Amino acid sequence: MSVTAGVALAVADAVWAEIRSAGLASDEHLSILEALFGKNMVRASKILDEGGVRRVTGAPSGRSLFLVMGESKRKEEYICFPEHLCTCYSFFYDIVSRGEQLCCKHQLAARLAEAVSKHQNIEAASYSFGLHGISL
Ligand SMILES: [Zn+2]
Repeated sequence: MSVTAGVALAVADAVWAEIRSAGLASDEHLSILEALFGKNMVRASKILDEGGVRRVTGAPSGRSLFLVMGESKRKEEYICFPEHLCTCYSFFYDIVSRGEQLCCKHQLAARLAEAVSKHQNIEAASYSFGLHGISL
């Protein structure tokens, strides 16, 4: 990761922390995040506004992941760990392979949802998490 990318992520982490402690994202927060992440942040806000973020928490483990709706007409959902991974094509192509983005719109939508507690919560038995997907 370049120094610039590291600085951008550090700034973003500070903004996410502020949003989390305020419980809401101000216009200033959103404009900083848009400056850092560009169109992906705008798309992430849209996904969240449309109720496209669900947090699945295992019981009794308490471990969780996010399911984030894609924007295509197929309305696919991607498994997302906001700071580390998304199962969408863009994550592997734009981020892991080409290194042109810091994170995808689904990761941003999940981080924003988590920071403002604006996601559906689903509890799933831990045994339903597995290599073959999630059954809810
Ligand atoms: Zn993604």
